[in-house]
Amino acid sequence: MSRKILTKDQAVEVLNRLGNEYPDAKCQLEHVNVWQLLVATVLSAQTTDVSVNQVTPDLFAAYTGPEELGNALPEDVEQYIKRIGMYHQKAKNIISLSARIASDFGGEVPRSRADLESLPGVGRKTANVVLAEGFGEQQIAVDTHVFRVSNRIGLVHEKDVEHTEQALIKKLPHERLTESHHLLIFHGRRCCHARKPECERCCLNGLCQENI
Ligand code: SF4
Repeated sequence: MSRKILTKDQAVEVLNRLGNEYPDAKCQLEHVNVWQLLVATVLSAQTTDVSVNQVTPDLFAAYTGPEELGNALPEDVEQYIKRIGMYHQKAKNIISLSARIASDFGGEVPRSRADLESLPGVGRKTANVVLAEGFGEQQIAVDTHVFRVSNRIGLVHEKDVEHTEQALIKKLPHERLTESHHLLIFHGRRCCHARKPECERCCLNGLCQENI
């Protein structure tokens, strides 16, 4: 049997059910400004937000802004972040991106996607997170949870994150894109796990195409 793709109305029903299930869904990376959000998001690649939140308080206490971190030595920064994965490369990236923000953007995180993606270690997903959380735009960053869960549910049927993002933008209400990002991540973490999804207790029973 060919796999059904949910209609726009069904997609809204998915969001409504997930919204009831996870009323607390929001960005989990602790930050007090857009630069901290950007650094924390770069640090979060292939590691958990919980792990990032354990290292950023001391990091941001030691380096209070782009200029301070941009002038730091990699070996010094590594001491703060060595408990998370790929810390060697991440130290280089957060120093370089901070130096660029200080030198090329007057110490302010740029608001354009092209400028954001020109920063070291910043790809489309990180730019989407910053545009959404930092600048209040409606964006859907597709990480591993959003990709897996949205394709399982049948919101979209795509083979990679780029196509999934474009299909989700067409399928979901524009004003709910950022909310959708958080809801799909929460569902992926708490119920629709990569290995053993808990379909028997899932709030999307009867809608999810993986479990029809
Ligand atoms: S029914 Fe199963 S596969 Fe579908 S969203 Fe729920 S947990 Fe995931």
